[in-house]
Amino acid sequence: MLTDYHVHLRPDDPGTTAANYFTAANAERYCESAEERGVKELGVSEHVHRFTAALDVWEHPFWRKNAVDDLDRYVEFVREETDLRLGIEADYIRGTEDKMANLLDRHDWDYVIGSVHFLGEHAVDIDDQTDVWRHESSAERVWARYFEALAQSALTGMYDIIAHPDLVKIWGSARPAPSRDPQYYYEPAIEAMLEAGVAMEVSTAGLRKPVGEIYPARAMLEMAVDAGVPIALSSDAHTPEHLAFGYEQALELLGDCGVRQIAVFEKRRRRMEPLG
Ligand SMILES: [Zn+2]
Ligand SMILES: [Zn+2]
Repeated sequence: MLTDYHVHLRPDDPGTTAANYFTAANAERYCESAEERGVKELGVSEHVHRFTAALDVWEHPFWRKNAVDDLDRYVEFVREETDLRLGIEADYIRGTEDKMANLLDRHDWDYVIGSVHFLGEHAVDIDDQTDVWRHESSAERVWARYFEALAQSALTGMYDIIAHPDLVKIWGSARPAPSRDPQYYYEPAIEAMLEAGVAMEVSTAGLRKPVGEIYPARAMLEMAVDAGVPIALSSDAHTPEHLAFGYEQALELLGDCGVRQIAVFEKRRRRMEPLG
């Protein structure tokens, strides 16, 4: 079994609209690509910040700029016009847990993906004035804050999958790296995922980013596997071409780390299936 659950039907580029991308024809392009690449379990997980309902949760300028779609209509579209599993990528924003839980509770998802993109008002993956690296003094601080937030996200109980678990490395050598062994940062996050009973995502999206590496780093994946955290596999595709991108490399890494089973989701119930 191969999965791709962390998938966006609509690219992040400005000007793309739900009317153009939340269509049966566009979904079909993804299904065809999945079939070609041997992905049996395909689901979509649009960014929560794309939906107007997200502004009841958080009013960050980036969200205000992006929140234009109707969440109910997205859910209805996926359920009624496609065979895709229904998911959503919902940020963990400290202090908004109750509001985000209310938003998520309104729909019957197959899975909810939790992401840490923001630390306070600042982002780990946006290269503009909101970039956390322009506001923090040290790599140690950024990494510590990122992995603390990751642990907290797992412990909210809102999520089935913790996405791109070491996203903080996205810029690669273009940002400073902490001098400590990264395992120091990974460990509490892995413990939290284990305690919360959530799956950790292995994402090939990092291969397409400046860091040029799968999320997470091998050392973090090994820790998760040793601890017994279930592993989910996705590409974070924003186009059909990126579906299952780099899976050969992911399968090699997963195999090396002793992962034999992969998490599969339906109506927020997880089961494990043989990987491959
Ligand atoms: Zn993300
Ligand atoms: Zn995503």
